[in-house]
Amino acid sequence: MNRESIVIIGSGPAAWTAAIYAARANLRPLVIEGEPSRTMIPGGQLMTTTEVENYPGFPDGVTGPELVERMKLQALRFETRSMVENVASIDTSSQPFVITPSYSEPMEALSVIIATGANARWLGIPNEERLAQMGGGVSACAVCDAALPQYRNQTIAVIGGGDTAMEEALYTTKFAGKVYVIHRRDQFRASKVMADRVLAHPKIEVLWNKVAVEVLGMNEIQGIRLQDTVSEEVTDIQVGGMFVAIGHTPNTEFLNGQLELTPHGYIKTHPWRTATSVEGVFAAGDVMDDYYRQAITAAGTGCMAALEAERWLAHQGLGESPILDTAEAPVEAAESV
Ligand code: NAP
Repeated sequence: MNRESIVIIGSGPAAWTAAIYAARANLRPLVIEGEPSRTMIPGGQLMTTTEVENYPGFPDGVTGPELVERMKLQALRFETRSMVENVASIDTSSQPFVITPSYSEPMEALSVIIATGANARWLGIPNEERLAQMGGGVSACAVCDAALPQYRNQTIAVIGGGDTAMEEALYTTKFAGKVYVIHRRDQFRASKVMADRVLAHPKIEVLWNKVAVEVLGMNEIQGIRLQDTVSEEVTDIQVGGMFVAIGHTPNTEFLNGQLELTPHGYIKTHPWRTATSVEGVFAAGDVMDDYYRQAITAAGTGCMAALEAERWLAHQGLGESPILDTAEAPVEAAESV
């Protein structure tokens, strides 16, 4: 079996930043990027983001895909290797860890950085994903799509009652004629300041105690069938677009319960570190962060994970990591998470 010093799983800003740091420390990282599928694009959520205006260093903005591509090129410029494959399984029960990709031979890894991100959640109602896939007016990212011509001046529905739904609804008002916020309870989960902005917005109408039970439309969304959660009454509303904003699911399934997770399913890390419950395994980006969820914070934790992995390898006398050996021992992950 091939033995790697450091394997980075993921291909968003956390993964590529970790690769840049690990490569520049002569660790020859291998990045396992993941395969394109119906629900996943290598590069992560930035791949469906149009303009990124808050990533420092780009005063005129940059598109999400270009930002990821630039990070990747920067990592490949040093000695980063990458493969476009999913990880079928990982065994962290003993050192070295064993990583089995979906097609290639299994490999050993002395350290691993997990940066697999999170996916937007869907409601799972009829026609929702079908219309989303065919560009029929259903999307899980208003910030990515609301400016598209098909949504302009339309009546749009945003589903959810958290901060994401508030943000998406407010953003959508820039382009839409009218915005419904559809929430299953009679009060928002969102922070008060965001909720107040939504409630005060003249273009937004909140439909309380309503769940969407079906998206109506063959090739394009025509409306949404709603059910009242109190009276159970069913009504249809006409809309020209629907943004689902009900949260995200971190991509941790392949870990098969081997790492400790938070109650919301994110990888649990030591406070202000990226060490996980398994020594030698580090986590970075949205798979361990349900709070900031920004490209810049993902990149920041990717940097942290690479430095921690490098120090951990040096401390264990593993790999080729003489540069950043540190007087301070890395956190004892298993005990302190
Ligand atoms: P969230 O806080 O978990 O909210 C999800 C919302 O979707 C909740 O209102 C929930 O309803 C609703 N929901 C979940 N499943 C549903 C279903 N099957 N059908 C109908 N509604 C459903 O997720 P989020 O809004 O993505 O926020 C995640 C985290 O990021 C939060 O900590 C948030 O504060 C943070 N965030 C912050 C900002 C900001 O500060 N600018 C922006 C975005 C996100 P219930 O309320 O009934 O559970």
